[in-house]
Amino acid sequence: MSWIERIGGANVGTLSFSEPLARHCTWRIGGPADVLAEPGTEEEIARLVAFAGEEGVPLVVVGRGSNLLFCDEGVRGIVLKLGRRFSDLTIEGQAVRAQGGLWVPRLARRLASAGLSGFEHAAGIPGSLGGLITMNGGSLRKSVGDNVVSVFALSLAGERRTFRRDECAFSYRRSRFQDPVGAPGETWIVLGASLVFPRGDRRAIRRETLAVLAERRGKFPLRQPNCGSVFTNDPAVYELAGPPGRIVEETGLKGLQMGGVQVSPRHANFMVNVGEATARDVLTLVSEVRRRVHDRIGVWIECEVRHVDEGGRIAPVSPICEGGEQR
Ligand SMILES: Cc1cc2nc3c(=O)[nH]c(=O)nc-3n(C[C@H](O)[C@H](O)[C@H](O)COP(=O)(O)OP(=O)(O)OC[C@H]3O[C@@H](n4cnc5c(N)ncnc54)[C@H](O)[C@@H]3O)c2cc1C
Repeated sequence: MSWIERIGGANVGTLSFSEPLARHCTWRIGGPADVLAEPGTEEEIARLVAFAGEEGVPLVVVGRGSNLLFCDEGVRGIVLKLGRRFSDLTIEGQAVRAQGGLWVPRLARRLASAGLSGFEHAAGIPGSLGGLITMNGGSLRKSVGDNVVSVFALSLAGERRTFRRDECAFSYRRSRFQDPVGAPGETWIVLGASLVFPRGDRRAIRRETLAVLAERRGKFPLRQPNCGSVFTNDPAVYELAGPPGRIVEETGLKGLQMGGVQVSPRHANFMVNVGEATARDVLTLVSEVRRRVHDRIGVWIECEVRHVDEGGRIAPVSPICEGGEQR
């Protein structure tokens, strides 16, 4: 019996077999995962991690796939998705406790109705809380890490641990949960977090939230499948040449298309799937954009978007793309 036959009896949550990963990311790109598991409890997550360890099967953790490029071959292993089934939320006074699969726009809405401010910037980010914490995501020079008190996590070696905020290594779009160093004991699944937000005026919070959403609708190509900002806004590069969208635009690359993927004519830091795009198309386009930007300003811009390979390894897209000259 293979592990794929055995996993059905392991009591690890909802399972889908040969599941197209294109259905689980906002870019709508990616081949099938052998198994996609959506646990609903911490016990199911722990059993899944133990199963993968005992069977020696690669396991990769994802949220809503809004910052991921799944490869065309899919994943030969288990994709553990934390989403709707693992998204409890409690708000008591200014203290918030939430599970990793919580949909970020839902958290923003609930905080607004509770009269808590400081999360308006994240209202339009289409990710899970676990993904947001892992990426230390945010906008308008704010990041979720600013409001984190502690993060509850489980390692791939089965250890549960609570990280205080100062142990999370938050910095611009980075955290300690992002870069698995390979050892199972050092690769963490964000199960949930406790956060704290200041009280604010409900009407002001609502106004601010609507303004953030309207600005995003005005600027971003939200009607086409995309993955948010492709390139990071590195402060040193910003000093030199401005934000990545402007750099790509001033390099004359708006509208550039490779296969089914295009640099959005609306916002040059977005790449949109214009139909049947493959991961290979994205890697080719990213390489071309990086190469041409490097030719013009002498800097390699780095990717915020992360790539998942067939073995379930996750890394930023930039070092692995082919075609352009690499650093
Ligand atoms: C239209 C659009 C707009 C966006 N705007 C913004 C923005 O303004 N600011 C911003 O910061 N980002 C933005 N993003 C990018 C993205 O939404 C964020 O990075 C988001 O936080 C990712 O969450 P996710 O659940 O989709 O994570 P995924 O894309 O599923 O995963 C991202 C990374 O986090 C890891 N991960 C996910 N969940 C967990 C977990 N529970 N435990 C451990 N690791 C985990 C994955 O392994 C992967 O490395 C945008 C994306 C889109 C499509």
